Amino acid sequence: MTTDKYTTETITDVRPWTDSLFSFRTTRDRGYRFVPGQFARIGVRDPHTDETVWRAYSIASASYDEHLEFFSVVVPGGAFTSRLSRLREGDPILVERRSYGFLTTDRFESGRDLWMLATGTGLAPFLSILHEFETWERYENLVLVQSVRTQSELAYEELIGSFDKSEYYAAFAQKLRYVRIVTREPVPGALRDRVTKLLASGVLEENVGLKLDHDRSRIMLCGNPEMVEDSRKLLTGRGFRVSRRGDPGHLAVENYW
Ligand code: NAP
Repeated sequence: MTTDKYTTETITDVRPWTDSLFSFRTTRDRGYRFVPGQFARIGVRDPHTDETVWRAYSIASASYDEHLEFFSVVVPGGAFTSRLSRLREGDPILVERRSYGFLTTDRFESGRDLWMLATGTGLAPFLSILHEFETWERYENLVLVQSVRTQSELAYEELIGSFDKSEYYAAFAQKLRYVRIVTREPVPGALRDRVTKLLASGVLEENVGLKLDHDRSRIMLCGNPEMVEDSRKLLTGRGFRVSRRGDPGHLAVENYW
């Protein structure tokens, strides 16, 4: 069924990353518009009660893709995500016609380096932003920090590492600095401390090879709400300002749950 508020789409692909992390794709209504970094509201019907439960999910796919892609964790004891994780190709899923959220690069003016700091599934909006050509054209450097607990949770690592092999992005690919943080086991080449600690100590900047600077840096935070809050405090303590409507600053944030 399709209404003024939502359309009924179909799951076209499900990709498990670990026992509790998976991505899925759906068909996309031709009229569905979003700005990379925004989230969709998706609805899943409970077959027993026939009730629909809605949740917000950041869109991981590009604005020009014909499909929509989402990245999810199975929340232990969570009815919605466990139901979602059981969906298979061909199953229906509802997508609200409106897209939401302000984790978008149009919140910023000027700036030369775009820093994208993600924990867990908070990576999703940055994948969409990274697939926007304008992002690569507009910034001199793109810094993507992905923090996960274990190596197996480094979802999309291959895709992120393959921009230089892409026909479309190869010319820009040297702009990307990809930092992996794996907090609960040693992984060669990855950092081990939490992103907040790495920010506070200056080790993140050292590792990236760029300084956080009011003129140059525009910073986006997405993921664990405590990480977002603690990083926001750290950065506002260093004089970075959160962007507001009509008042562009240095920071854009999204709590992932
Ligand atoms: P997570 O616990 O958020 O950890 C992901 C990464 O973020 C890890 O490297 C972790 O480091 C780091 N981290 C956690 N808290 C931090 C903080 N305060 N400051 C800096 N870094 C921090 O893992 P997740 O797999 O994304 O999610 C874990 C659980 O959160 C899920 O199992 C689920 O219960 C819940 N969750 C719920 C939703 C929802 O929609 N309700 C969505 C996502 C996740 P450490 O290893 O040091 O902790």
